[in-house]
Amino acid sequence: MKAIRVNEHGGPESLAYEELEAPEPGPGQARVRLAASGVNFIDVYMRSGVYPGEPPFTLGLEGAGEVEAVGEGVEEISVGDHVAWAGVPGSYAEQVVAPADKLVAFNVTMVEARVAAAIMLQGMTAHYLTHSTFPLGEGQTALVHAAAGGVGLLLCQMAKMRGARVIGTAGTQEKAALAKEAGADEVILYREQNFSEEANRLTDGEGVDVVYDSVGKDTFDGGLDCLKTRGYMVLFGGSSGQVPPLDPQVLNRKGGLFLTRPALAQYTRTREELLWRAESLFSWIGQGNLDVRIGGSYALEDAAGAHRDLEARRTTGKLLLIP
Ligand code: NDP
Repeated sequence: MKAIRVNEHGGPESLAYEELEAPEPGPGQARVRLAASGVNFIDVYMRSGVYPGEPPFTLGLEGAGEVEAVGEGVEEISVGDHVAWAGVPGSYAEQVVAPADKLVAFNVTMVEARVAAAIMLQGMTAHYLTHSTFPLGEGQTALVHAAAGGVGLLLCQMAKMRGARVIGTAGTQEKAALAKEAGADEVILYREQNFSEEANRLTDGEGVDVVYDSVGKDTFDGGLDCLKTRGYMVLFGGSSGQVPPLDPQVLNRKGGLFLTRPALAQYTRTREELLWRAESLFSWIGQGNLDVRIGGSYALEDAAGAHRDLEARRTTGKLLLIP
């Protein structure tokens, strides 16, 4: 089978398309033939060495496909099931072996396999951010950075489902229009305007209840400056770079703020929690209540092209690799 390997950390050019032995599932595992792999910003961190992981390894964490074989003791799924996942290393490949308890079956007549591959990691992230980390409600205002991105478009939609007001930020007019289609009430062009001042102005000087910040280094300080007293800074990524260490007194000076730096794995700790989040997404998609924008599909072989576009801020919505 073909797979995308990282033989040494580096830029997109370090991604190698190679032939590997087809993996065999061990006890508790299943082998899946992929219909699509999801591309996520975390893949960039793993490729470049920002996150730990010793090369050589096969990149990718997310995908969807059909179960081809199961190992001993597997009860969660069966051969022939259509399944999707987030958090299975080695997913940039034609086949992957996964722990069966990480796989979620879906009805392929309701949700296309490519959509299932597109929704798992970013969709469950938007779900936990809006339902668990800071459970949004009516009368609250959220600031969503990179609102036309993969997570961003889903966050806007879910924040609106929860009844909140959404102020988005985006890099271009085209991206701002997409964020508005996804439900953002206002969108700030943060490369041209001071988003913090704008968010304060839009909330009559009060500030927002929560900032969902995936951009990190470039936006973190401004986010603290447009939170309400006792507001929540939810820092969940670093697309512009990681936020440097912080003096806790800053949180006091800026109004008794709360700060958290969550990750999806902490919010899918049990099979029950994983199924709650993933099945909510599938049912919203099946009912036409959640729009999944696939902003780009690339051949598996061209994973480097997908990474280049993602890092250059050229993309919107989800990027997929098709084996
Ligand atoms: P996006 O589709 O959001 O792509 C990144 C976007 O960030 C760009 O399109 C760009 O939008 C914006 N951006 C701002 N500054 C930069 C910069 N210097 N370089 C590149 N992009 C920049 O990616 P994802 O949806 O895959 O991920 C978004 C973030 O969320 C990532 O940081 C990722 O690590 C994080 N994440 C965290 C998870 C968690 O559980 N903690 C889970 C999933 C994702 P614009 O042009 O509008 O500025």
